[in-house]
Order: sequence, then structure tokens, then C-alpha cells
Amino acid sequence: PIARSEQYDGFARIFGIETEYGVSITGAARADAPASVDASAVVGAPAVVDAGQVAMMMFQPIVSRSRSTNTYLTNGARLYLDVGSHPEYATAEARDPLTALHQDLAGERIMAKLAQGAEARLRERFGGRTRVHVFKNNVDSAGHSFGCHENYLVRRFVPLEQVEHELLPFLITRQLYTGAGRVTDQGFELTQRADYLDEAISSATTRSRPMVNTRDEPHADPDEFRRLHVIIGDSNRSQWATWMKLAVTHLVLCVIEDAVRRGEPSGFERLAFADPGAANRAVSRDVTCSRARLALADGSEITALGMQRRYLDSVEHFVASPRGEAVRASLPAGMVDETLRQWRGVLADLGELVGAAGSDDLAETAGSDVQVGAAGAAAIAALSEHDAVRRACATLADRVDWAAKLRLFAALHARGVALSRQRLEQLDMDYHDVAAGRVYASLLDRGAMRRLAEDGDIDAASRTAPADTRAALRGAFVSRALDRGVRFSCDWTTLSVSEPVHASAVLIDPFRSTPTDDVARLMAALG
Ligand code: ATP
Ligand code: MG
Ligand code: MG
Repeated sequence: PIARSEQYDGFARIFGIETEYGVSITGAARADAPASVDASAVVGAPAVVDAGQVAMMMFQPIVSRSRSTNTYLTNGARLYLDVGSHPEYATAEARDPLTALHQDLAGERIMAKLAQGAEARLRERFGGRTRVHVFKNNVDSAGHSFGCHENYLVRRFVPLEQVEHELLPFLITRQLYTGAGRVTDQGFELTQRADYLDEAISSATTRSRPMVNTRDEPHADPDEFRRLHVIIGDSNRSQWATWMKLAVTHLVLCVIEDAVRRGEPSGFERLAFADPGAANRAVSRDVTCSRARLALADGSEITALGMQRRYLDSVEHFVASPRGEAVRASLPAGMVDETLRQWRGVLADLGELVGAAGSDDLAETAGSDVQVGAAGAAAIAALSEHDAVRRACATLADRVDWAAKLRLFAALHARGVALSRQRLEQLDMDYHDVAAGRVYASLLDRGAMRRLAEDGDIDAASRTAPADTRAALRGAFVSRALDRGVRFSCDWTTLSVSEPVHASAVLIDPFRSTPTDDVARLMAALG
């Protein structure tokens, strides 16, 4: 028999989050605009530099350090800028959702710092009111969509078709509590990206926009593992939401993996949607969380909340079974039970919203899909006056991004602030602005949104990699290479130096944080 790695059995997992950010600039005077810049190409002129140039400016320190816009950091993360204006930060491999959250928040902080540096340099040329904005959201003002991808290591024996059928209904409906919310022409939606995702599963992410990417790059032993690459999901500001989406998805994956391993049904096989894209849009557009009836492939119908309850029941049942201990062992002590508690709690709170909505005219008020243009602002104003929405937001808004936005709009409306379309959009964008935004920071500071990570955690995660994955080796390698001033490069599974010596090492096992002989030799070669 072939020797399997220690982690092949059991439910250990690797988590990683890739976040693309949007960049923009405001307040820059038309000082010495370089002739090559076409200001009219930028929506909302008078811009004097376009977003792509601002992004390049942000990456100047990176380029001068590593001679590339694609690099790895001492915390094991990947920081890069493709063509265009969407810098991306991919967290180092983490073994649990809280560590992944810390790493993701470190990414926000690193982006904010790069933005501040660029802003200072731009102010010298374009005046003191120049501001650089970096948005952790998924749609820019021109309507282009960009992503936040979750990565989960799963065992190779799980067929991808099974993931499509058994995980997708969960991913689509979890947006009830992980959706970031968005102001649209029609009013308000629970998610950012519903209009941009079509095919359920695909190996191409640029041409079409699938919900799960099947490109087979496991960044691990391909005989043992896959990397599940989840495209459907918003960038979250809520710390709870980032933690929660990883934690609940992990538990659902445990059920599926266990079933396949035993050759038994998971219990999720009847839950596939007839049309995942349509279901996704319907969930996103239903602010009542109750009106949308989602058609299943077997001809029956279900609500999004009903779907989440089916998954929760199965997972609770599974964790209560003899396999529960092994599942609990896959995360830090207490985290599995805490995840279930949070899941039950948020579904109960959503249930209150549904109950309240069912009894009155909320469905009419929120009828966003029949309104167009400026009516969107009116729809949101009407929503803000609605008792059921106000009550729901009061309970959900401390952890659910879309509810936090609605609560904010309702509070402003109550104070007599006119909710024009422009004002709503500006608030929506500010909420996601990790560099210059005020809205989210003030909610967090006031305790109006939950804090799962302290400042010190984020600071440490900005410098240091998770200690219990290969990211620890990568981080130590990058630190030493920078310290010695040698040219280095990495990808997720290799480390190499090209000057003054040629040497490299492979890190095929993402769970391994102790150096192999190759890694030890490479480190020694760095001196
Ligand atoms: P690209 O975005 O350039 O198309 P990609 O999808 O491979 O490439 P990266 O942006 O490089 O994605 O990020 C990969 C993410 O996967 C990181 O967050 C990383 O921590 C995570 N990861 C690395 N190895 C594994 C693994 N074996 N299983 C699950 N996640 C992994
Ligand atoms: Mg990526
Ligand atoms: Mg990716």
C-alpha cells in the first residue's frame, strides 16, 4: 500500500483567503498630469492619474525591494499586482479559521500602509487633498467585478461533481449571513457579486465567472489532496463573517469527506438547485430573506433559510456522532462547538426577520426588482422605515455586513439625512475602504461590530506566518533572504535563491512546519 501522510486521515484542513482590492484616487488637483495620462478614461473626472497608476505607485516599495510586483512576505503571504488596478493579497496557509482571519486582516493593514505611502508621494505632486482609497469589496464604480476566493484543502477522493451538487446550495445560501450587501440601481442586495457569477463550476475564471473554480492546482501532493477554490463569496469587513464562512464551510466539507470515505450518502444529495445562478441571484435580491422560493433539481422548493437549516441539522447530527471527536480535533479546542453555536444563533436571528416579514408588507417595500434608477434610493429609504428591517438589523448588524449597512442607512434616515443615491453609494464604498474609510472603523471602535482579533494579533500576523504550516518555513526563508540581501523567489510549494548561489527547496506538505533536509540546507546556504 502507498504510504499516506499523517493528515490524510482525519479532518485536518488548510485554509487560505485571496482578496483582490479596488483602488481609486480622489482630491488630486490637475497639477502636473503627465501627458501620457488620459484623464477622460477615468469615470468621474477630473482624475489626474488613473487607478492603475495609483496601484503601481502603491507597489513601488515592493518593486524596489524584490524587482517584481509579485512577491512573498515574511508572514508567508503572497502580495501581487497583475496588469490593471487590483492588488491582491493571498494569505499564508492556516490550519484554522481564526488564524486565517488574522492573516486576512494583516492583508488589509498591509494594503492600507502601501496606500498611505502612495498617497504621501502623490500629494507632493497633486496637492494635500489627494486621497488614495483601497476597497475591500467586489464591484468598482464602473461595474467591474473582482474577487475574494476561499481555498480549502480537501481529500482527493472527493469527486468535484459531488462538491458541485452538495456544497453549492450551502455556499449560495450562506450568503444570508456572509453577504456584504450592495447599493444597486434597484435598491439593495445582500451580496456584491450575484450578477457576475454564472456557471456553477468552471476551470476558467476570467472569461466566465464560476462559483467554484476547478483548475487543478492543489499546491500539495496531488495524489492525496485537492485545493477547493471557492469563488462565490463576498469580501467581508465583518471579522465574524470572515471567520464564520471558513468555519461553517469546513464543517460541511467534513460531512462530505466522511461520507465519501465510507462510501455512504452525505445526506446532501437531494439539495441541488435546478439553476444555481438563478438561485444565487434570488437569494441576493431578497432582502426579506424569506420571499425567494428556490427551485431544487428534484422539482421541490425551499427558502434560503430552510436550506441553511437542512445543512445545520446534518452537521449537528454528524458532530454528535462518534466521528464528532475527530472533527473537534481538526480545529482549536472549542471552536467546532462555538461554530455550531454561532450558526444556530444567526439562523435564529434571521428567522425572526422572516417571521416579521411574513406578517406585513415588507416584501412589497423591498421589491427591488421592480424598481429602476433613482427609485433605488427610495427603496432603501422605505426599507429604513420598516420595523421588521430595523429589528432584524438591530440583532444582525453586529456581525453581518449587509445588515450593518442597512442599520447605518436607517440611522441616518431617522436623523433626517437625505439618502440620495450618491450618498448611499458613497457610504457603501466608504464601508469597504481599508485605507481612507471611516464608517467601518467607527462601528468597530464603538463596539457596534464584533471584534474577534485584537490589534496585537493583526500586528503579529503582518510580520509572522502561522507557526503550524509550511508558511512558517516560507516566512523564515523570506526574512533571512531579505536580511542577507539575496535575490529570492517563492511560490506556494518552492523556495529558491538565485544569487549569490543557486539553491531551492520544495515544500510539498502544507501541514509541515519543520524543515526538511532541503530546507535546512537552503537556510544554511543563506548564512
Ligand atoms: P491566482 O490567483 O494567481 O490565479 P491561485 O488561485 O493559485 O492563483 P493565489 O492567489 O496564489 O491563488 O493564492 C492561493 C491561496 O491558496 C493562498 O491563500 C494559500 O494560502 C492557499 N493555499 C496554498 N496551498 C494550499 C492548499 N494545499 N490547500 C488549500 N489552500 C492552499
Ligand atoms: Mg489569487
Ligand atoms: Mg485564486
